[in-house]
Amino acid sequence: MDNCIFCKIIEGSIPSKKVYEDDRVFAFHDIQPQAPVHILIIPKKHFASLNDAGEDDWDTIGYIHKAAKQIAKEQGVAESGYRIVNNCGPDSGQIVFHLHMHLLAGEKLAGLGR
Ligand code: C5P
Repeated sequence: MDNCIFCKIIEGSIPSKKVYEDDRVFAFHDIQPQAPVHILIIPKKHFASLNDAGEDDWDTIGYIHKAAKQIAKEQGVAESGYRIVNNCGPDSGQIVFHLHMHLLAGEKLAGLGR
């Protein structure tokens, strides 16, 4: 999609530190990491958020989690643990409107309000 920064990363017109790619997903290191391991996993098909996922997109959203499992293993954090986060909409703080899952790991992550 024109003017989508993540579509440009997939195309290669904006550089990224790629960690994984296949026919459906692309994954790269976040430029402003919030944990020692902070990777973004994105579908190659553009849609803005979970709210914008169509019926055909749920398989891909599941598949992103399969890729996350493999990436966590490759990054050496599968056993120590990792968190998958999706921001959707204004209150979540979503700033890039191409669906993405954050994979966070590499340290003891703060609890979610506990
Ligand atoms: O979920 P949210 O939209 O808030 O997060 C977008 C993420 O994309 C941010 O963590 C930001 O650092 C990252 N980003 C990136 N490379 C870019 C632009 C944004 O890793 N070129």
